[in-house]
Amino acid sequence: MTSKIKSSFVDGSFVSYDHGTDLLENRNPSNPSEVVERFARADKLLTERAIQAARSAAPAWARSNPQLRADALDFIGSEILQRKEELGALLAREEGKVLREAIGEAERAGRSFKFYAQEALRAEGEKYPSVRDDVGIDVFTQPLGVIGIIAPWNFPIAIPAWKIAPALCYGNCVVFKPAELVPSSAWALAEIISRSGVPAGVFNMLIGPGRSVGDTIIRSPEIDGISFTGSEHTGRQIAQLAAEGMKKVQLEMGGKNPLVVLDDADLDVAVEAALNGSFYSTGQRCTASSRLIVTEQIHDRLVAALAEKTRALTIGDALNASTNVGPVVDGRQLEQNLSYVRFGLEEGAKLVCGGEHLHHESGGFFFSPALFTDVSPKMRIYREEIFGPVLSVLKVKNYEEAFAAAEDTPFGLSAGIITTSLKHSEHFKRNSSAGMVMVNLATAGVDYHVPFGGNGASSLGSREQGTHARQFFTRVKTAYQLA
Ligand code: NAD
Repeated sequence: MTSKIKSSFVDGSFVSYDHGTDLLENRNPSNPSEVVERFARADKLLTERAIQAARSAAPAWARSNPQLRADALDFIGSEILQRKEELGALLAREEGKVLREAIGEAERAGRSFKFYAQEALRAEGEKYPSVRDDVGIDVFTQPLGVIGIIAPWNFPIAIPAWKIAPALCYGNCVVFKPAELVPSSAWALAEIISRSGVPAGVFNMLIGPGRSVGDTIIRSPEIDGISFTGSEHTGRQIAQLAAEGMKKVQLEMGGKNPLVVLDDADLDVAVEAALNGSFYSTGQRCTASSRLIVTEQIHDRLVAALAEKTRALTIGDALNASTNVGPVVDGRQLEQNLSYVRFGLEEGAKLVCGGEHLHHESGGFFFSPALFTDVSPKMRIYREEIFGPVLSVLKVKNYEEAFAAAEDTPFGLSAGIITTSLKHSEHFKRNSSAGMVMVNLATAGVDYHVPFGGNGASSLGSREQGTHARQFFTRVKTAYQLA
């Protein structure tokens, strides 16, 4: 156990705290008796100080030399990449993602910063002829101002990175609040940023609860935009408050992503996509496939092969090299997974394998990935986001039925199809309502340099990542000038 207590980063330094400060213990879900690190929680007052610091730093940062921003982002990205193994191990300890995936996540975070280092120097803006004689028009973008960034626990370093990097790149100041379950990766990132050459006040990080720290950020009149990733429930509250405060908002929320498998599919490709998309990262990905929609001829063969592979998965400590699936993030999420297994059974679905709390002497939150068949579209396991490794298989007659079933959800983040038919894959790509579509690939697993986001109840506002991120982090100015 580490005895040093860590704290929030405000106005260029890590704040000192009193002995009476509310403390947060970050525990390892593979072994909950292990405290990864301890943190002093920020309160409303400190949050207001951070927002004020960002506001004061905003004018100079908005006008800053793009080379300064590029160099700072490059420094951050390079250090993350150099330390990806160490940062990955920390992430695995606090969130439970297996080491290989956790290192991959750290690498992705580093690559996001490197991408936006380049982006800071890229040309932008348009020139138009006017419909009036002797008038010229320039259209260009300016920084939005001070951005509140609120992140979930399931990607402790990649999601903060893909929000913070474009925010800073386009000249904005940041007040960042990570999820309370994963403060260690956020602190490590803040520590790197603190040495990057970014001036005091430009970047601030607050460790604390959503209901106080998060709420203060959302309600502050000094915040110009909010980039949030998390549950639909919290997202809706934030959207309402943002509308009242006339703030720009970007929300990435839940999913209930379908993976369609057609009779003509390559069985191995289908099994791999279903296994990876549904169960890797312990099913705790917003892009995870939780609905497998399968045509009748391939159904039994696919279920048999998938069940065999699922039973063979090694579930255990995230740091063990032989582990395929790490623990669920905490006891609450474990209880939620188990409740949904009960709902599935009560509603008449057939549990082919898994769905159990695997008791281990460490007390880790281990849960065996659950595969349900005989599912009907009205069942809760088929409709609601569980956010765990619970997969519902729906049997359908043909592509048309499969497509209609895939679309039958209020969410619209990611959708996949496994087929060798060009006709059906093209139709699916063009007509799916999801923001991201995968052909012969798992629904989860995306690149860092292209737009990320969904439709419907999954997302609100413009896309994250890549050059499209500019749309959220800037505002457009149209300037007319008499020649
Ligand atoms: P959550 O909504 O409980 O929390 C997300 C963040 O919001 C946390 O930092 C939390 O402290 C903060 N928060 C909570 N209440 C708040 C309030 N009233 N005001 C301001 N901030 C508040 O979500 P979670 O459990 O951390 O994450 C899981 C959810 O995130 C799942 O629904 C998942 O689908 C979603 N998610 C979506 C994407 C995506 O890109 N669409 C990616 C990852 C996760």
